Amino acid sequence: MRIDLHAHSTASDGTDPPEELVRHAADAGLDVVALTDHDTVGGHTRAAAALPDELTLVPGAEISCRHDGRSVHLLAYLFDPDEPAFATERDRIRSDRVRRAREMVDRLRELGVPVTWERVAELADGGTVGRPHVARAMIELGVVDDIPGAFTERWIGHAGRAYVGKYSLDPVHAVELVRGAGGVAVLAHPKASSRGASHADELIEALAGAGLAGVEIDHPDHTDDARAQLRSLARELDLVGTGSSDYHGESKHNRLGQETTGPEVYEALVAAATGAAPVRSGRSRVR
Ligand code: AMP
Ligand code: FE
Ligand code: FE
Ligand code: ZN
Repeated sequence: MRIDLHAHSTASDGTDPPEELVRHAADAGLDVVALTDHDTVGGHTRAAAALPDELTLVPGAEISCRHDGRSVHLLAYLFDPDEPAFATERDRIRSDRVRRAREMVDRLRELGVPVTWERVAELADGGTVGRPHVARAMIELGVVDDIPGAFTERWIGHAGRAYVGKYSLDPVHAVELVRGAGGVAVLAHPKASSRGASHADELIEALAGAGLAGVEIDHPDHTDDARAQLRSLARELDLVGTGSSDYHGESKHNRLGQETTGPEVYEALVAAATGAAPVRSGRSRVR
């Protein structure tokens, strides 16, 4: 079984529409793919409706959190999308992302970059608005050559001249919200130091105490050293370790199935969830 538990569609900052994402997942030889758009379940229905035979869809989301001034991403799987406490927080994050993108546009304009909110909104196309959409608008204007070129101190990288923060959750609270909605929580790319977001073991320990189920160990941004450290920490804290691509379509080089999760880990996550079940084509809700 080939299982990839982290992928983005146009429902957030990926470039594949949900229908294409599931087709690409099947083409990549995956048996299971999780759709984990930033702060939204917006792509689930479309992905489920277009699900190729033999592919299982795990509905999920990647939740924006912050701890000690650093961005923390929490993967949430198989939660009840209608549970109000968690749904309200996802809505709140998404609306604040609009305010924040507008402010980044204003700052860029003050810096002489003629981006418009209208264009950024068009690029986001109704999905969760993120910095990659602002970056794409900058590429169109020839201000930067590629997305990483915009994620710098010069522009919209963390602490960049046009960077604006967004409403984000305390990660312990986020784990509680996911669990309260019947879902399972896995900490995304905890040691992705290339993005300046390597998390202290103390944070992971606190999240484990709150009911975190696992940590993403095999991730394209993790070095061999980071993976080894995480493997031993996971063992110590009784967390499962996942592997996933964090596919974003054309806006990143990560390929679907580039990293994968073991079947026993997948089964353990499914068994721990009560909010929703994986989806298979033709048959509606199969465990
Ligand atoms: P936001 O959630 O709006 O702050 O944007 C963060 C998103 O931008 C991440 O989920 C990545 O998809 C993307 N991203 C972050 N850093 C980079 C980078 N250096 N190069 C390309 N994409 C990035
Ligand atoms: Fe992203
Ligand atoms: Fe992430
Ligand atoms: Zn992601």
